[in-house]
Amino acid sequence: MARAARLQLRSCPLCGSHWVAHTSREKLEAPHVVVSLCCGACGAWRCVLTTSWGFERFEREQMRRLLRVLCAALRLDLLDAADFALERPEYARADR
Ligand SMILES: [Zn+2]
Repeated sequence: MARAARLQLRSCPLCGSHWVAHTSREKLEAPHVVVSLCCGACGAWRCVLTTSWGFERFEREQMRRLLRVLCAALRLDLLDAADFALERPEYARADR
């Protein structure tokens, strides 16, 4: 996948932010995929035509990035297990 095509997936063309999330994908004739993306910084929406392997690479990069952020937040005590608890009575914390 060419670098320019990868950049279309990874960064927002309006503000340049790399905080881009995919919201849906539509499979076309193999190996093409249309991915809907939303920029976390400016809220811009767009669709990008890519390949299935390009999309898989994008997903792996997004997961690695999310893990780095979560690890940093856990290391700095910004998050703990309670932040991941479901808001359901059967899982309610005993200290609340
Ligand atoms: Zn943006």
